[in-house]
Amino acid sequence: MTYQYKRVLLKLSGEALMGEGGYGIDPHVTERLAKQITSIAQDGVEVGIVVGGGNIFRGLAGSAKGMDRAQADYMGMLATIMNALALQDAFEKQQVSCRVMSAIQMNEVCEPYIRRRAMNHLAKGDIVIFAAGSGNPYFTTDTAAALRACEIGADCLLKATKVDGIYDRDPINNDDAVRFESISYHEVLVRGLQVMDATATALCQDNKMPIIVLNIEGTDTIKRALSGEPVGTVVYQED
Ligand code: UDP
Repeated sequence: MTYQYKRVLLKLSGEALMGEGGYGIDPHVTERLAKQITSIAQDGVEVGIVVGGGNIFRGLAGSAKGMDRAQADYMGMLATIMNALALQDAFEKQQVSCRVMSAIQMNEVCEPYIRRRAMNHLAKGDIVIFAAGSGNPYFTTDTAAALRACEIGADCLLKATKVDGIYDRDPINNDDAVRFESISYHEVLVRGLQVMDATATALCQDNKMPIIVLNIEGTDTIKRALSGEPVGTVVYQED
């Protein structure tokens, strides 16, 4: 198979790991994800992953219940490290080399995030999971994904969600919602479409980082999107 992109940054939400359970990590789900991503990596695509933590803890939810926001956000970032370790385990079961690099140092369990080292790992063909978001409270892992995608010189940011692209309105509650095959960053921001948070979208826009929004649950959706099939929605920079 030929791919249109050599280096990609995949954003997996924490919810993508939890399966039907409604909370936590389902090893069958991480195994399925690892198999799909490993086959792309074995075809020569360099894969970086930013994983969320919403299946375990979200800072906003904590602060809504009265916690200090920054404290709650640090808990959210720690949740992403657990997800990263679970994914690393699943990749290693596929006999593929996988590094976890964390924005919050935790040297006993993973490497610290050092950009140049991450680039070397990727160039060698290792899958690199970026954990602990950006390392800063008040941000999301979407923004961390946009940031890391730019930092590592990714050719595109793949945002894997539970819907198969970007719609003009919520497709779950509106049967007549229409899916875009492509849409500009500007239109995403002006229409207030829920693709990624505005900070992440603006960062991609400023750095002309294409975003592909796709459904993680489809068969080989990531592979098909990377080979140029019209899977999901592409967000692009208008001229
Ligand atoms: N978080 C943070 N800074 C970051 C990234 C994440 O404080 O740079 C915290 C924040 O509390 C967030 C939680 O980590 O709610 C989990 O991340 P996110 O909600 O983005 O996960 P997802 O929705 O993708 O599962």
